[in-house]
Amino acid sequence: MIYLDNAATTKPTEKVLRHCEMILREDFYNPSALYYPAIKIKTKIEQARKSVAEKLKCFADEIIFTSGATEANNWAVGCGFKNKKGNLIISAGEHPSVFESAMALKAKGVDVRIAPLNTNGSIDCEKFFELIDDNTAFVSIMHVSNETGATNPVVEIAGRAKKINKKLVFHSDGVQAFCKIPTDIGPTSIDLYSISAHKIGGLKGVGALYISKNLNMASMMLGGGQERRLRSGTENVMGILTFKDAISDFDTDCVKPLFEYIIERLSKIDGIKINSFPENTSGYIISVGISGVKSEVLQHLLCDDGVLVGLGSACSSKTKKNRVLESMKITKDFIDGNIRISLCPQTSIEEIKTAVEIIEKNICKLRSKING
Ligand code: PMP
Repeated sequence: MIYLDNAATTKPTEKVLRHCEMILREDFYNPSALYYPAIKIKTKIEQARKSVAEKLKCFADEIIFTSGATEANNWAVGCGFKNKKGNLIISAGEHPSVFESAMALKAKGVDVRIAPLNTNGSIDCEKFFELIDDNTAFVSIMHVSNETGATNPVVEIAGRAKKINKKLVFHSDGVQAFCKIPTDIGPTSIDLYSISAHKIGGLKGVGALYISKNLNMASMMLGGGQERRLRSGTENVMGILTFKDAISDFDTDCVKPLFEYIIERLSKIDGIKINSFPENTSGYIISVGISGVKSEVLQHLLCDDGVLVGLGSACSSKTKKNRVLESMKITKDFIDGNIRISLCPQTSIEEIKTAVEIIEKNICKLRSKING
């Protein structure tokens, strides 16, 4: 199988897989215990925390491990929006874990404002800044879109937003950015930042929330007091220790030629609209609209031929509408025929060449069937 759905999840790296068995056999102690083998695991957790912090250019004690980014995003919106007073702003492109958290607040009567996207998938900054006022308490703008790979300059956006209202709390979902584009968010105006291990070759079920020292955040979970009393629960030792392996294994320099090759080849096909653009891309996700085909049908045919692609966010694939692509003003025909190709450092150019041929062949096949 040629796996091109790395925005949904990645295959754990070899180093991660080897380490897992060792951890299950030898590092099974509870890190809170006070005997030596347990203390050794606690030390390894702190080393993993340090390696996440180095990537975010922040202090290690600003990183709180969670069960993934859905938890981190729910926590950020639920507790970062303090006292539930004032208004809250998100972008139209947010992942469901942010969007639905905001919608739950809206259902309780909170003034939730949604900043639109440009046709290139990035947030419309001017419209966003117009939404901020003296009552804005919380903002969440994602760093990289999981649908299109479009980037948002969140460091600059947070800085400007706080010039308008210095009291607001600024969160960014950094899941599709972490390890892929620069994420020096520690010294900036960003207060909260979510990441997840399984998008970079780590395990599912582990992520983290960066919480700036300047922010007084309420606990996510009460109990034994782990994670600086902010997120109780016995630590996911295997997930956390291998998060460090995934970070150190992640090679950022190899996907650019693959990205360029895919765009060059697919753009030549008639009735294709590429929704990922060189000027604002992370370089890992290519959203392709294909007129005259149904994306689910194409996905099945590609799977039969050994190529796995995504259909927009895996988490929202059960809901028929695509809120993100609609916000980019993409027409229905191109949304109905939208596939998402997403890369990882292990993807090879040979795989891409084969996959592109198979995609071209199946588009022709589908269209000729439809046209009789
Ligand atoms: N945010 C974004 C941008 C994502 O792509 C994902 C994964 N689909 C999540 C949040 C949720 O992450 P997790 O699977 O770790 O809960």
